[in-house]
Amino acid sequence: MILLKQNWESGEVMTDCIFCKIIAGEIPSAKVYEDEFVFAFNDISPQAPVHILVVPKEHIVSADDITVDNSHYVAKCFEAIAKIAKEKKLENGYRIINSCGHDGGQTVFHLHFHILGGKVFSGF
Ligand code: AMP
Ligand code: ZN
Repeated sequence: MILLKQNWESGEVMTDCIFCKIIAGEIPSAKVYEDEFVFAFNDISPQAPVHILVVPKEHIVSADDITVDNSHYVAKCFEAIAKIAKEKKLENGYRIINSCGHDGGQTVFHLHFHILGGKVFSGF
C-alpha cells in the first residue's frame, strides 16, 4: 500500500510535484527502498556510480521548511539512508547532500537527500 500524505490538513494536493507523483506511482522510477514514511529511487541523472534520492512521503518543500511537526520524516529519511547504504555495500563511506532553495541549487522542491557513493570524494 502506498501511503502518501499530501498536506491532508490543508486539503492541498501537490498535483504538480514530480516527487509526489513518483511516490504515488504516477511517474515511473527505479525504486530502491520504501517504508511508511520514506521512498527512495535512483537519480535519473547519476553523478556517481551510486546516486539515490531519499524522499519523505510528505510534501515538505525544502530543508528550510522542517519543523517540530514534520521533523520525524527527516529522522526516517536518515534511518533509511543507513539501511540503503548497507544494502548497497557502501561500507567505505558515501556522501549525503541536500540542496536547499534557489541559492542551494535545489531544482525539485520536495525535500530530498542525495546518497552519492561508489567513488572517493574529496573537498566540495
Ligand atoms: P536537486 O537539484 O538537489 O533538487 O535534485 C533533484 C534531483 O532530482 C536531480 O539530481 C535530478 O537528476 C533528479 N530527478 C529529476 N527528475 C527525476 C526523475 N523523474 N527520476 C529520478 N530523478 C529525477
Ligand atoms: Zn511533493
